[in-house]
Amino acid sequence: VLPEINPDFYELSDKLTPEQRALQLKVRYFMETEVAPIVNDYWLRDEFPHELIPKFGELGLAGVTYEGYGCPGLPFLMEGVLAMEMARIDSSIATFFGVQSGLTMGSIYLCGSEEQKQEWLPAMNRFEKIGAFGLTEPEVGSGAAGGLTVTCQQTADGWVLNGQKKWIGNATFADVVVVWARNLGDGEVKGFLVRKENPGFEVEKIKGKMALRIVQNGLITLKDCVVEEKDRLPNANSFKDTADVLRMTRAGVAWMAVGCARGAYENALDYTRNRKQFGKPIASFQLIQNHLVEMISNLTAMQTLVFRLSELQDNGQLKDEHASLAKVFCTLRTRDIVRGAREVMGGNGILLEHNVARFVADAEAIYSYEGTKEINTLIVGRAITGYSAFV
Ligand code: FAD
Repeated sequence: VLPEINPDFYELSDKLTPEQRALQLKVRYFMETEVAPIVNDYWLRDEFPHELIPKFGELGLAGVTYEGYGCPGLPFLMEGVLAMEMARIDSSIATFFGVQSGLTMGSIYLCGSEEQKQEWLPAMNRFEKIGAFGLTEPEVGSGAAGGLTVTCQQTADGWVLNGQKKWIGNATFADVVVVWARNLGDGEVKGFLVRKENPGFEVEKIKGKMALRIVQNGLITLKDCVVEEKDRLPNANSFKDTADVLRMTRAGVAWMAVGCARGAYENALDYTRNRKQFGKPIASFQLIQNHLVEMISNLTAMQTLVFRLSELQDNGQLKDEHASLAKVFCTLRTRDIVRGAREVMGGNGILLEHNVARFVADAEAIYSYEGTKEINTLIVGRAITGYSAFV
């Protein structure tokens, strides 16, 4: 009898309480039964499965770590574990959830007024309202800290926003987009809740992506877009406040990379135990075992790292460089693992139906968003040397 496939080689799940473990398994079951059967088809068609939205609402997990407003108030460790479970089946769906729960609800939770929290957080927890997070611009990606070109200007009735935002996940069907813009008055970055019905707000779907094809990314154009003062985030007064949101969510991206790697590894190991060549399962060949052991070694290192990362976050000790190091390490190793998984599957490794090809493509986007390898490396470099090498 062959041993059970276990990607948790050091039994890190033992660190979870019985309730946390039960929630992990509940989300795993949801992803395996509701999401896994439909994702390849949607991925191929470059479309979002809208029928899943109410089902995510029933789970009631969005805003994982926030207290009150109908949110679960769980530890950051569980936010990570849930991101991992989602990405294990599909990184696009994990990204959709992360944009809603982390980036958008997180911006409102950290920077919003009491009225804004009351209006949006419970409805977003139930997925009755969908959110997006608009930071990146066509000409400004890595350099967002000093370079935003989308402007806001105060008027007698509120604010007027102008410019474009690119790559904005969920934007094509979001009810609200958190838009970060530079104030023509004091030059500082401010945050706004731009509603889809606001005059001067337009979204165009970004087509032709070769990764995370289920995520609907938009190019947003703001043309004299009018936003009321009540929709300005009152506690977003400089890019430091934007960075606080990103620090919180970057840890989740590291966990998502672990999930993506886990999914690819499990599928590849299963395949190699069943595929026969030269009359024997290919898993019995030394060179194939070498690939598999490399994968589980990297995966074990990544999992150990993110468990400690979340512990730091739960203890209130998380620094930018902690999140950046984990994001770089995990997304780099994930790229290696998904490629290894594809390799041991031979030709079938490039077929969507064998559930590894999608992971290979999606790992490329996870590698680049929420800070590229270079930018996160420079954050760690600055922390350990004391010198900033950004410009
Ligand atoms: P650039 O900044 O143009 O970088 C190009 C290359 O230059 C990279 O390798 C980079 O590391 C390197 N580089 C840049 N500066 C330096 C430097 N100082 N030193 C060394 N190397 C450097 N953004 C949002 O706001 N909201 C979203 O919902 C969102 N979702 C996304 C989803 C997907 C699928 C993707 C691909 C992106 C998404 N993004 C989103 C944008 C993402 O965060 C940016 O793509 C990322 O920050 C990199 O910016 P860029 O693509 O403009 O690359």
